[in-house]
Amino acid sequence: MEILPGIFQFQLPMPFELRHVNVYLLRDGEGYTLIDTGLRTDESRAALHAGLQAAHVELRQIRRILITHIHPDHFGLARELRERTGAELVIHRLEVALMEPRYARAEDLVREVARWLEVNGVPAEERDFLQTASMAAREFVSVVSPDVLLEGAERLAVNGDDLVVVWTPGHSPGHCAFYWPARKLLFSGDHLLLKISPNIGLHPQSSADPLDDYLASLRRVAALAIDEVLPAHGPSFREPRERVSQILQHHQERLAALLRLAAAPQTGWELAAGLFPGLAQRGVFHQRLALQETLAHCQSLAQDGRLIKRMNADDRVQWAAA
Ligand SMILES: [Zn+2]
Repeated sequence: MEILPGIFQFQLPMPFELRHVNVYLLRDGEGYTLIDTGLRTDESRAALHAGLQAAHVELRQIRRILITHIHPDHFGLARELRERTGAELVIHRLEVALMEPRYARAEDLVREVARWLEVNGVPAEERDFLQTASMAAREFVSVVSPDVLLEGAERLAVNGDDLVVVWTPGHSPGHCAFYWPARKLLFSGDHLLLKISPNIGLHPQSSADPLDDYLASLRRVAALAIDEVLPAHGPSFREPRERVSQILQHHQERLAALLRLAAAPQTGWELAAGLFPGLAQRGVFHQRLALQETLAHCQSLAQDGRLIKRMNADDRVQWAAA
């Protein structure tokens, strides 16, 4: 539906706990620019086509597809849509580097993840399940090489205005938000959401200090003049600065909790169990996200000298309050 003049939002279904992803279609002269694509599932594809039809937009009118990041719910249908529309596909270059190992050579990544689980103290009997926790995601995506690579700060012409690329690493290394200064709108992707805080995880495909990247990206966005945030999940909202300070507060609390938990040296896995009570009863997907999230916070604290990160003789990493 057209939520603002020339801006359509389609809520596409997902078979996950998070039920929908929002994609946006911007009128651009005679053509259209699409931000994100939804999963490559029959249900999501059908919902997108129904939305386009209701908006009286034909596939061939989509001239450009902007991708916030390559997680399956944002990027899954990119290849198919590019083939069917002839649109130019635009992605940050750091996301492109993740695509091949993640979706085409996943076996190598699984081996890397297995090692990473071991290093971080996950017991052998749990490792098998955890290392394949995200293999299923591959079904929802196919790899495609983009036409235009972004770095951040580019101004893209949309309907006679500038749409500014805001590089917002953290949730993913090449995550981009798209800012429309003339209308004071921010398409925030997963970077800034109203009800949930995006997963920020340290893992083999993340940057080396994703939490600090994320916090810096949040401050970057808070400095923009924004009337309305149009996120990839959940409702649109105003007052982004208020939301930014809530999220900053949430991470501060988590950092403080970790410092308390790490009074004696512990592995990431042990700290995750302390930080997320009941974790052992959750599914493997949650367990892995919890471990990644815990490690991102540990890494930030260690970089600041507040935790000691010790590599033991068997390469196991332990963290302890400094
Ligand atoms: Zn995501």
